[in-house]
Amino acid sequence: MELARIGEIPGDGVNRPCLSPGDRTARRMLIAWANEIGAEISIDVAANLFVRRAGTDPDAAPVLTGSHMDSQPEGGRFDGIYGVIAGLEALAALHDAGIVTRRAIEVVAWTNEEGGRYAPGCMGSMSWSGYAPPTTWDDVRDADGIRYADALAEHLRLEADLPRRPLGGVPHAYLEAHIEQGPLLEAAGLDIGVVTGIQGSRWFSVTLSGASAHAGTAPVGMRRDAVQDMLRAVSALNELMHDPADILRFTVARIDVTPNTSNSVAGRVRFTIDCRHPDGAVLRAKGDAIRATVEAAVKTCDVLVEEHFDAAPVAFHPLVVETVAAAALADGASAMGLPSGAFHDAQFVVPLAPTGMVFVPSRDGISHNPAEYSSPEQLAAGTRVLVRSLVALAG
Ligand SMILES: [Zn+2]
Repeated sequence: MELARIGEIPGDGVNRPCLSPGDRTARRMLIAWANEIGAEISIDVAANLFVRRAGTDPDAAPVLTGSHMDSQPEGGRFDGIYGVIAGLEALAALHDAGIVTRRAIEVVAWTNEEGGRYAPGCMGSMSWSGYAPPTTWDDVRDADGIRYADALAEHLRLEADLPRRPLGGVPHAYLEAHIEQGPLLEAAGLDIGVVTGIQGSRWFSVTLSGASAHAGTAPVGMRRDAVQDMLRAVSALNELMHDPADILRFTVARIDVTPNTSNSVAGRVRFTIDCRHPDGAVLRAKGDAIRATVEAAVKTCDVLVEEHFDAAPVAFHPLVVETVAAAALADGASAMGLPSGAFHDAQFVVPLAPTGMVFVPSRDGISHNPAEYSSPEQLAAGTRVLVRSLVALAG
């Protein structure tokens, strides 16, 4: 709640963009709390911030936990920051209890997970994992025209007192706590989500080109009306994407109409498709069928289908998934396995180390919204499962 005051917005929300003064204030608060338990602080060239509690074996790879401290522009108080605070609380609890682990436990705050100020998100974890070089996004600009490279350099200059660590590493395991951001745990009345993986995503745009015309003079039968063809296309796509089990996520959300006036036939429509599924084969088949489905559905317009993003589903490692399930059982928490519908930094750690996540319920499934809420009891239950899991993984 103290952190939520940094960048607070009406309705209990938070606006804390990455690499902003508010981000730095929040990080300093975290560092102050970490100093109280004697943890070591370090930062890498991507501004990922690490809090380390040493283990007894300095040669053993650390167990890594954490999440992100930036928020959506109209975000809530829990997305991301919960996983960082839960990780710090785990270290503090071990410190207070005098428990020593063989492996070090490190808490990481990844830079720019949300992508709200600089798109795409997950730049910190993508850099750290070697998924893309950290200079990849140098020329991306925020709404004020500030380059990412310049914001990052400014941040690192202001944080120059923090010990620098090399980018990357191979942890023994990575475990991220996060709010569910969906309604499943609440609907099932359960405490804990044992996350089994992250579903795959494919993003497309469809452009339908017809001909603009006068709404009063052009006979309907002679038009090449892009809005009417869009309706046919979306109806056909709804049939293609219909899933009786309601696992496939199909979204048409952004629609650009040209000329977008009430008395002209639309000559051109561009709409976006976001398609997600945990099974890579299903996602491949459905995504690959989009072009033919649209082409078969339209009557008069030319069709252009472009793919902008293609991320395969990832499955989390049995070591971590089973550790989390056992921790929930040992703590008396009710739990179920489920895939994550949203992206997380954990996605980019998967190729490097056994990875998993712990979810806690989100009230009404609401997230990326000031109304985002999980109760103190729910957050504490997730933190207990996290600390039990970390102790098991760290020995
Ligand atoms: Zn998040």
